[in-house]
This record gives sequence, C-alpha cells and structure tokens, in this order.
Amino acid sequence: MPPSDGAGRSAEPLAAGAGPAEAAGLLDALPDALCAVDRRWRVWYANARAGELFADRVLVGERLDLLLPRSRADAVWSALDKAMHGHAPVACAMSPAVLGEWMEVRASPFRDGLVIRIQTLEPRRIADAERADLLALAERSAVQAATLQRLTAALSPAVNEEQIGAVVLQQALPAFGATAGDVILLEQAEAMFRVLCWVGYPDELVRPWMRYPVDSGTPGGDVVRTGDPIFLSSIDEWHERYPRIAPIVGGNQLSAYAGLPLSFGGRVRGVVSFNFPSCREFRDEERTMLLAFAAQCAQALERAQLFAAERQARRDAEAAARAKSDFLAVMSHELRTPLTAILGYQELLADGITGPVTDTQRQQLERIEASAVHLLGLIDELLTFSRLEAGRETVQWGAVPVRDLLNEAMTLVAPLASGKPLTLSVHPPEPPTVITTDHGKLRQVLVNLLSNAVKFTDRGSVTLTGHVETNDVVIEVRDTGIGIGPEHRERIFEPFWQVEQHPTRRVSGTGLGLSVARALVQLLGGTIDFQSTPGAGSSFSVCIPRAPLLAP
Ligand code: ADP
Repeated sequence: MPPSDGAGRSAEPLAAGAGPAEAAGLLDALPDALCAVDRRWRVWYANARAGELFADRVLVGERLDLLLPRSRADAVWSALDKAMHGHAPVACAMSPAVLGEWMEVRASPFRDGLVIRIQTLEPRRIADAERADLLALAERSAVQAATLQRLTAALSPAVNEEQIGAVVLQQALPAFGATAGDVILLEQAEAMFRVLCWVGYPDELVRPWMRYPVDSGTPGGDVVRTGDPIFLSSIDEWHERYPRIAPIVGGNQLSAYAGLPLSFGGRVRGVVSFNFPSCREFRDEERTMLLAFAAQCAQALERAQLFAAERQARRDAEAAARAKSDFLAVMSHELRTPLTAILGYQELLADGITGPVTDTQRQQLERIEASAVHLLGLIDELLTFSRLEAGRETVQWGAVPVRDLLNEAMTLVAPLASGKPLTLSVHPPEPPTVITTDHGKLRQVLVNLLSNAVKFTDRGSVTLTGHVETNDVVIEVRDTGIGIGPEHRERIFEPFWQVEQHPTRRVSGTGLGLSVARALVQLLGGTIDFQSTPGAGSSFSVCIPRAPLLAP
C-alpha cells in the first residue's frame, strides 16, 4: 500500500532523479499552500493546498489581487509589493479576517514574479501578530481622522454650492484615491438631478448628463430612493446592478464606485460619488470615513443654501424698501405742488388783490394758511425721510456759528408755544463757537426736538443749551413735559412710531420727527440720546463733531 498524503491521494516512492510529474506530486503533498505569480500577479502555478485554501478553486490563470483583494489584506499586499519591486524575500502575518485563521505569508522573487508560501501561523506568534494588527489599525484610523479633519477644514470656508463642489473634487478625490467623481443635487420637484460639479469624466460624456431624471437606472437614483450609500467593488458589479451605465463606466477605465447620500433638513438632497480606477472592497473603516465626509459635505451645502436664501431675502427686502421710498418721494412731491398753489392763491386773496376781503374771510384765510403750512411741513418731513432712507440725502458742509443756529431754531418753534404757559430759553456755548457742519440739517434736527418739547409740555419750560467738549459740541433740548416711559426707550426713534398710537391722540404728528432727527445726526457724524422721567420731563442731547471726521 503506497503512503497517503493525508488528502486522500497516494504517492509512489520517488526514485532518485525523479521527473517533473513526481516533483509536482511532491509539492502537492506539502501541508503549506504554494503558488507562483508573474509580474502582473497572474497565478501560473498553485499546489493542491493553495486550491483548498481558496475554497477549492482552480487558481492557475486567476489574478492574485482578485483572489486576495488588496482592501482586505493591505498589510500582506504592501509586503508582496515590496518583494515584487524590491526583488527581496519578505514574510508577514495575515489576519483571520482574510482566510479564517492567522496565516504566515512568505514571498521570494522567482523568475519575473514571486513564489508565495502561505502556512498556518505558529500559535506562539499569534499574540505578536494580533498586537501588530491592532497597531496598524490604530495608525490607519489616525491617518483617516487627519484626512477627514483636513477635508472638513477645507469645506468650512466654502459659502456657496460651487465652492463646496470644488473642495470635494480638488481635495477629497486624491485623499480617497478616486480618479473621478461628481456632486449631484436634486432639483426643486425632486424628479431630476442637476450636476453641481464633476471631475475625471470626459466632457462629451458629462454634457448630456448635466440634468437627468432620478429614475434613469443610475446608482445615484437608488441612493436618493433608499437614503443608503452604494458601494460597487468592481466593474462586474456595475454590469450586474447597472447594466445600462456599466459600459460607459468601463469604457472610461473606471471600476469601483462609492455613492453617498447628501442629507440635510431630514431629507436626501443629493449624492456625492467617487469612482476608483481599479477594483476595491471598501473596508468598514473606509465606508465610515466616506460617509463622515459626505455628512460634512451635506452640512456645508445646507449652510450654503441657507446663506443663499438669506441673501435673496435681503435683496427682496432692499428692493421692497427702495420701492417704498420711491413711492414716498413721488407722492410727497405730487402733494407739494398743489399745496404750493393753494398757498399762492390764499396769499392773493388775503392781500385783497382779487377784491376786498371781510374780517371773517380773513380769519378763514389765515386758518387755510396755517393748515397748508402745517401740511407742507409734514410733507417736507416725509420727503427728507424718503431721501434719507434711499441714501440720497447729501451734506452741505459749512461754517456754522452755534449761537446763531440755536437762536434761529428757537425762533422758528416759538409760535407753537403761543398760548401755553411756557418759558423758552436759549443758552449758547461760551465762548461763542463756530463748527463745521450742515447748517440746514442741524437746524432741522433742533426744530424737530424743540417742536416735540413744546408739543408734549403744557406748562413749565423748554430750554436749549449748547456746550463745547474736546472734539464735539453737545446741544441739549430739555422740557418739563409729560416725559417718556422706560418701556418706550427702544422704539422711540423708529419711523412712524408714537407713544400714543390711537388716532384720537392729543397732539398731531407723523411719528417721523425723531427717526429723521437721528438719521440726520448720523449723517453729520454725531449721536443722539435722551433721558426722561414720566411726568417730570425729557432731555434730548445731540453730540455733533466740531469738524467732520473726514474732510468733506
Ligand atoms: P411725532 O411726529 O409723533 O412727534 P416723533 O418721532 O418726533 O414723532 O416722536 C415720536 C413719539 O415720541 C411722539 O409721538 C411722542 O409720543 C414721543 N416723544 C417725542 N419727544 C417727546 C418729548 N419731548 N416728550 C414726550 N414725548 C415725546
């Protein structure tokens, strides 16, 4: 009975100088797996044990990188690459994740390729191998974390979709080892994809695909439909799952694929895809990293969309504000023209040019004049307000003696106080001071403040004081009137706002006086503020630079 090799085959005892058949039998009898590959990793010899190790497959003619995917055994592959290119023998351990138990792989240069021996790792060396494996995993995780951090940092300053697309393509592709990729976004109705950006595909291939229906049989469509990523490890998998697209992918020398959902606001909004030049199994850690990157990308896209929506809303609001101030300007102008005519004819009648006027008629004509002048004042205020809002108000700089300005403003307001037990007084700065500002505008500010002081004060006093500080002149309008409650402090300078909002309020006004005053003061480079005690009175102070900060 011939001795058995343990695998059920029998072998004849070898005579000295046995031929190739006997040698092959001998190699088949080895307990170690043995194979030889050429320069392109094609297996041209494998012993019986090697076939068993790979689930009884016929190995000869197959490619080792497909039998033993690089992604699952990258430590082994870096050793094999070293042996192949460095023409030197190597040895390394292979984790049980590849063939079910710890193995030792040894490779030596042979002809133009390698001869590779795979055997079970000695039990006493397993602990070392496990430690080295864990260390390599930790190192890989650190590299991946750094890559992710770099990509995230590159994404963070991107504020629009195009910039985000550029980061994805310029930075992420090389970082992941992909040679082509794209970012596609769902359009409003969510039935179509729009290509935001791409790289690595020929132009003529992409052009017809700039917009395409979600259900065109592409992996992107499935990613959006399921919300899950899609990983294809080889072109075969493309043919199996996406037969319509596979020939295009293969024709462009692309193979493995990762399609990752871009989700934000609770929905999938698009897909970022990476195409790799060769087959690859995506390890769990790689999938996690790609998904983490897609999540960062989605966050950046969400930020960009919010930013764009906010910018649009601001543009709309600005357009609405412009339309409003144009309307105000046109309307005030249109109202002013007939009013000027009314005042002109009133004057003709009052002067008796068109015939004698009775005392009663004269009194009535005076009321017409007072009302028309009042109306004209309101319209002028509206006009100033609309010019200020539209940024069309310009400053006429000039030398302004403060004493004259204060006296002039008080004289203009004095008639409003007639009939009220009110003392009006002016205290100009000492020594007399001349400042460089816009005379007309500062006078309008003071007239507005003084009119309010007189309007809201039934008895007591209204005082106008000026004093000089280092670079400014401070003008104060003080009254002993009804005052302003602290609850109104925030709103007092808002246009059209009044403490008493109802139409039966005691005093007239548009609610524009203070907002116009503040805008004019700001135009002159100054500030305005107030102090008030309800029931005791108010004090508004205007601080104006003695000379403009920038030369006019
Ligand atoms: P208006 O045309 O109503 O006077 P303003 O913008 O000048 O509009 O003032 C807004 C509101 O602020 C006034 O309606 C009034 O309620 C309050 N206010 C302004 N100045 C005084 C003041 N000196 N004393 C009391 N209340 C004032």
